[in-house]
Amino acid sequence: MSKDVEGLQGELERTARGSGIEYFGAADVTSAHDHMARLGGEFLRTFPRAVSLGSRLSDAIVDQISDHGNERLVRSYQWHIYEITNRFLDSVALQMTKMLQAAGYQAHPIHASQSMDADGLSGMISNKIAAHLSGLGWIGKSVLLVTPEAGPRARWATVLTDAPLEPGKPMERRCGDCTECVEICPVSAFTGVDFDPLEPREKRFDAHVCSDYNKHRHNTVMSKLAAGSNCGLCVYICPHGRSEE
Ligand code: SF4
Ligand code: SF4
Repeated sequence: MSKDVEGLQGELERTARGSGIEYFGAADVTSAHDHMARLGGEFLRTFPRAVSLGSRLSDAIVDQISDHGNERLVRSYQWHIYEITNRFLDSVALQMTKMLQAAGYQAHPIHASQSMDADGLSGMISNKIAAHLSGLGWIGKSVLLVTPEAGPRARWATVLTDAPLEPGKPMERRCGDCTECVEICPVSAFTGVDFDPLEPREKRFDAHVCSDYNKHRHNTVMSKLAAGSNCGLCVYICPHGRSEE
């Protein structure tokens, strides 16, 4: 990596962290090019790298997720964990895009996903795959990106680029024999199968079952409050990131 690119990468990281981003990494996404091209078009092969940005969630909010009947908690979860965190991530991703472009590189931001289901439909590349390839965590049996420090209690955005940034090394998964996310899901959306990049997500997760459940939940008294968010029990229960009670 040239000194210029090294300096640019350092500047990107300092800016992101200075904005409040806890997780910053660079990924070699060439192994995901076939998938990306299928979803978003052949032009995506011109981006060999990605910047991954992660924002840690409020433990105080996530710890209360299981109380689905509490209007204030549901509103707080939907607003802060989805609306505000996604806007924050998208804003920092745009900042990264401008910096890369000003340095003479192509850069394409990928928005922070709205929900687990939307993440699979967002096209281009999964934010979680980019974070995994950056070495920031592993894909758990919950199909979430699990970090050693905060478990799945983080949300993600990505910037695709042709800047030859130094990529991280994908992290080995640390789920072991744990099946807590599989067991807590009210609609058995997870099969408990470990992540394999060569297998379709359907082998591990039924996104439609999760989506239908959350739509139904939204059609109850909590409908307007919870619209756009998921029940989040799989985020709450993961022992990585959950403080002992
Ligand atoms: S968000 Fe809820 S319904 Fe969806 S997979 Fe997680 S635990 Fe299951
Ligand atoms: S709850 Fe257990 S199995 Fe599920 S992602 Fe976390 S560590 Fe892995």
